[in-house]
Amino acid sequence: MPIRLFDSLSRDYRELHPAQPDGVFRFYNCGPTVYAPAHIGNFRTFVVNDLLRRLLELEFPDKVKHVRNLTDVDDKTIRRAREESRPLAEVTKQWTDKFHADCAALNCLSPHVEPTATGHIPEQIDMIAALERRGHAYRTDDGSVYFKVSSFDGYGALSRVKERELRVGSALAGKPQTHDADEKEDGSDFALWKGHKPDDGDTFWPSPWGQGRPGWHIECSAMSKKHLGDTIDLHTGGVDLLFPHHENEIAQSQCCNGTLFAHHWYHSEHLLVDGKKMSKSLGNLYTLDQLKEMGHSPAALRYALLAGHPRKQLNFTLEALPAAEKALAQLRAFRAALTPGGNSDPFAPALAALQDDLNTPHALGIVFTALHAGPTGVAPAAFDRVLFALGLDLTEPAKPATATPPEVTDLAEQRWAAKAAKNWAEADRLRGAIAALGWSMLDRKDGYALEPAKK
Ligand code: AMP
Ligand code: ZN
Repeated sequence: MPIRLFDSLSRDYRELHPAQPDGVFRFYNCGPTVYAPAHIGNFRTFVVNDLLRRLLELEFPDKVKHVRNLTDVDDKTIRRAREESRPLAEVTKQWTDKFHADCAALNCLSPHVEPTATGHIPEQIDMIAALERRGHAYRTDDGSVYFKVSSFDGYGALSRVKERELRVGSALAGKPQTHDADEKEDGSDFALWKGHKPDDGDTFWPSPWGQGRPGWHIECSAMSKKHLGDTIDLHTGGVDLLFPHHENEIAQSQCCNGTLFAHHWYHSEHLLVDGKKMSKSLGNLYTLDQLKEMGHSPAALRYALLAGHPRKQLNFTLEALPAAEKALAQLRAFRAALTPGGNSDPFAPALAALQDDLNTPHALGIVFTALHAGPTGVAPAAFDRVLFALGLDLTEPAKPATATPPEVTDLAEQRWAAKAAKNWAEADRLRGAIAALGWSMLDRKDGYALEPAKK
């Protein structure tokens, strides 16, 4: 059965098929901005995309190419580096490593390519230069380059922004580019290249328009072109990226390449807290570490994030996590009761529900109905297939053996920062303080682990 997914552009359900004769399914997923820990709202989007990736792997074995970028230069990353008086690359590496560790804990498959914006400056410049040559972009006196929205008839097709709204586009955008708003010819035009400003410090690159840095939107157009080609099969992200980010990506890519950018657009809905979007700006967020400190397992969070339909908003409550642990324990007990001889597959309808617009609540309902019917005769491979699709790894213990006390985590964070600042004396002192509380800090390449000290 093919995967059927709601397409935000046609506003209809459409089947997913690779469009190109090589049979490779080209999948681009907008990745994180690496200036702070991703919160569990961000991870709802990444877990939903991981579910999609897993279904694609089952449907097109060895033929999926998944690209997810890292936004490692923008207003937020630059501001964070300035506030901390640290090099931009050091800050973005710290949060990239943390993002990878959290993704691994949540059992998300790694993308096949994970390109960075700073690693693709020439590609972005080439694309902007092509847009300028074709009359879709103009320079301003401050050394910036803007995309001329009125030059692209198709603008607004994805988000259905009306003419009137476009004029106040930057106000609607939620991510206003006030930084350089003065110079634009039209309110809805957006920056492709930002001329160097004192606030950018030493973050700039040479370009045909002088020193500066790319605007945010161009990186995804340039990186998907480089790694997947001019036309991709599927482009995804959280619903807040629909406008202006994805609208702008379509405009840039189609005006540069002269061909369709993406066959299919999929947007998953937000995680809410008390009815409001979980976001860094509202400060109403939880990180995976905070939940772990409370004794919750990453697997329980993954389960709780998957329990709601991905295209419906999901209100997060801490009570969802013990319920998820209980569900995982039932799945674990069922798995242990399966015997090799079984050959029935009561889970096929659950997989079909996932393939039908990622209907996770329906799929989990079917799984638990099958669980209640008992393990007799059930093929272990059938159960394992649906577990793989959901990314539920039952081998890990539901809870960490001992929850790490917050004061130990605090000391570990301080020690990590001291190490990053090469303050070895302070790092040693903090190691001692952690040991005094009965814990050891294990240094890893991309982070650290805490475990009770061996007696
Ligand atoms: P960012 O790091 O801000 O670029 O966001 C990374 C991803 O998380 C994007 O796809 C956003 O759409 C998504 N996102 C941000 N906030 C939430 C939320 N509260 N719930 C679900 N997804 C979110
Ligand atoms: Zn993007």
